[in-house]
Amino acid sequence: MRKKIFILMFLIQIQVFAQCIAGNCKDGFGKYDFGFAVYEGNFKAGKPNGQGTMDYGGGDKFVGSFKNGQEDGDGQLFKKHIPQAVTYVNGKVKVRVVQTNIGSNAPAIEGCLQGDCYNGFGKIKFPSGNLYEGNFVYGVRNGQGKFVFASGNVLTATFKDNEPLQGSFFYFNEDTTFYGTFNDDGTPNSGDYKYPANRATVTVVNGVITNIDNPVAREAEEKAEKEKEGKICSKCGGKGMCQGAAYAQTTESYYTVNTYKSNGSLYSSSDGNVGRKTTMVKPPPTRCTQCDGTGKVFGGDQIIMSKRY
Ligand SMILES: [Zn+2]
Repeated sequence: MRKKIFILMFLIQIQVFAQCIAGNCKDGFGKYDFGFAVYEGNFKAGKPNGQGTMDYGGGDKFVGSFKNGQEDGDGQLFKKHIPQAVTYVNGKVKVRVVQTNIGSNAPAIEGCLQGDCYNGFGKIKFPSGNLYEGNFVYGVRNGQGKFVFASGNVLTATFKDNEPLQGSFFYFNEDTTFYGTFNDDGTPNSGDYKYPANRATVTVVNGVITNIDNPVAREAEEKAEKEKEGKICSKCGGKGMCQGAAYAQTTESYYTVNTYKSNGSLYSSSDGNVGRKTTMVKPPPTRCTQCDGTGKVFGGDQIIMSKRY
């Protein structure tokens, strides 16, 4: 019983949303709101049948032939206002006319500077001053392309229905480039922001920052840590004691005595050449004055503030 009530309410809701809003939606010409689309055209037995237009909104619609409530036969399928010739069989597209080289049949695209800005590779300048160079499919950006904005920003990406899917976005003023995927509205979704100025990388996932890597700040912190530990004293080599320079010490004087024999008697005399004997003396090690006996010195560049970005 409960189930029955639920089904009944569901049917009522369908009736509320789906309704004939003009003309004869049973057998004749009328306008019917299906909720997801509005159909205007011929009806037979309460279903679209014959020529009509099924408008899905947002520039998406089918203008053509219907049979028993489904698209059936030839017509024009509009995707974001861009038409393409199609043939439907029982609600499914069987033939899609994709004209890759329509030559002189291409509509004149305002601002097209070179190439084919409708179906092919072209370069177009918009009234805003923004430039786009890349692939077009029926006037819609599809495939590889590059935007050079008047602001200096540059977007290089794979496009689908005018919107970038994946690529890079260079921010001129910030001198930063985002590499990754984009949201439907063209804003960055997931990827890395690279900052060449300080070699930093900011990683975002679904627009939320998940990691920040700033090698310059990290290296500064590491350097500060090393400064705290101190450097080995250059004067004592870390020993704390210094060996002073050896000095000369005069230990004795000398002179030469000559002994000689004359007429059977011995005589001796000094030659008057007085000299000194000098030896080099090493002093005992003393406490190092540079490190005050600790073996380490502190100082050099002092990190006043270190901040990770
Ligand atoms: Zn020392």
